[in-house]
Amino acid sequence: MTKDQVRRYLEFYQDLGLKTLYRRDTAGSLAAPHHPPPALDLTPHTVNLKSDPPSPLVPSLAPVHDNLPKILEDIGDCKRCRLHEGRNRLVFGSGAAQARLVFVGEGPGADEDAQGLPFVGRAGQLLTQMIEGTAHKEGIPIKRSDVYICNVVKCRPPENRAPQPDEMEICGQFLFRQLLAIRPKAICALGSTAAKAILGTKDGVTRLRGKWQQWRDIPVMVTYHPSYLLRPYNQNAKKEAWEDLKKVLHYVYD
Ligand code: URA
Repeated sequence: MTKDQVRRYLEFYQDLGLKTLYRRDTAGSLAAPHHPPPALDLTPHTVNLKSDPPSPLVPSLAPVHDNLPKILEDIGDCKRCRLHEGRNRLVFGSGAAQARLVFVGEGPGADEDAQGLPFVGRAGQLLTQMIEGTAHKEGIPIKRSDVYICNVVKCRPPENRAPQPDEMEICGQFLFRQLLAIRPKAICALGSTAAKAILGTKDGVTRLRGKWQQWRDIPVMVTYHPSYLLRPYNQNAKKEAWEDLKKVLHYVYD
């Protein structure tokens, strides 16, 4: 394997969230595979989908034969970070494994922790209404079950606090594998934690929303988290979130 191939492999696995590599000393165990992944541009940037469509030539970067059941199996009875201590149920994700659209939230709340399913509480009901209501109004025949919904962290943070950077990093490897296994046409990041995890940016939602961003070759729309929209003083943001969602649904399903 050339130096350049090694560098690209390390970048690929670093992007999946892996920070530690173990060398096997068995001769030949590090033989070069036939198709090393290409160099990655990890810089998030705004894209104009009309003039700058995502390149169809970027090959799949998912680990060979990766899929949602395998990822769930790898997560197992996870104790990789402190969040496992307070969890009742791990919340992996729900929806269509072949979804063309994936929504990513922050982390499970109390209802999700009790049921093992993402977005089933009040914020979840609003998300369902937003997806199904906007789709219906726009003449797009989809239901919530046609998209895939998951979170950055799979276990409920105590007191519903925001996940900490190390928790996001540890769990992020599974989020990225989910995204790579599904390979949706677009991702909708709900709130700043999802935006930070996916785009690696410190920019807030107000700055990022409404314009297409990109994760690998997949367009990403950042919008407000449904919990934020439930607060009565954020009603203007609701209109903006609906505009964002309309943009996403038309891009994915037209
Ligand atoms: N908030 C989230 O970010 N995710 C959920 O699953 C529920 C509420």
